[in-house]
Amino acid sequence: MDLSVIILGTNAALPTKDTITSAQLIQTNHNLYLIDCGEGTQIKMQQHAIKKNKIRAVFISHLHGDHIFGLPGLLTSFLYSQRKEPLQIFGPPGIKAYIETVLSLSASYILYDLMIYEITDVDTFRYEDELITVSAIPLQHRIQTIGYIFREKTRFNILPEVIDKYNLTYEEIKALKRGESIRMDSIPVHPDNNTTVLHPVRSYAYCSDTIYDESLPQRLAGVNTLYHESTYLHALKKQADERMHSTSHDAALTAKNAGVDKLILGHFSTRYSDLNPLLEEARSVFNNVILAREGLEIAI
Ligand SMILES: [Zn+2]
Repeated sequence: MDLSVIILGTNAALPTKDTITSAQLIQTNHNLYLIDCGEGTQIKMQQHAIKKNKIRAVFISHLHGDHIFGLPGLLTSFLYSQRKEPLQIFGPPGIKAYIETVLSLSASYILYDLMIYEITDVDTFRYEDELITVSAIPLQHRIQTIGYIFREKTRFNILPEVIDKYNLTYEEIKALKRGESIRMDSIPVHPDNNTTVLHPVRSYAYCSDTIYDESLPQRLAGVNTLYHESTYLHALKKQADERMHSTSHDAALTAKNAGVDKLILGHFSTRYSDLNPLLEEARSVFNNVILAREGLEIAI
């Protein structure tokens, strides 16, 4: 399965001429999942030829404007792209009132099933479809903020000799790949060491916005790719703490302590016209760091 993240917005607080506030997409073979929806998200989708009707669910981290001001526009634009598929939106309490109020006051038409779910218990939240699961983690910011962990479902690659031996059909191969047992001439065939190779599960964590949190790495156990906010350089650590944001150093320390493979930095203060110092600061703590940029697609 293809699994990647497409970055749409990388700024904290404000859009600029070329860059917008937080938004990104998780992309699998057939689906897109939107995480946060800052102002200008639709424009970035058009610039990067994203088919927005493929968005299956939206995950909102918190209700600050730089994460949700693009959402009403996106939801109403689906009218013009003939969206018929239902759309699920997940976010903290208040997300339902926000969307319903804007849609109601602007007399907007929504001609698809829009289901808005408020996450009241972060620890037990779970989204699941045929390809991925999503769980939630608490982040520490000025208002309630939720991080999300996307995991592909466990799947098995079938050994070629097994396909030949049992003359497996396409449907039987798919069932074994999902981890189901099948029956061939009354002989059960199980997904085990003799028939399949377990594919390692890839996962992606989205952590924006948050103050440095020592307890965060343990919640990120098993995560491969971590996106972590990096609003400031460490020279502004005091300001970062006061506004409950992180520095590049903080983000890298979290990545190192969590044992992830790859760190993506984002949510940059617009005071930094050159982002390389943020990258270098993070790399002094953790090796594998990438700067989020609008339009960048990164394999998970
Ligand atoms: Zn923000």
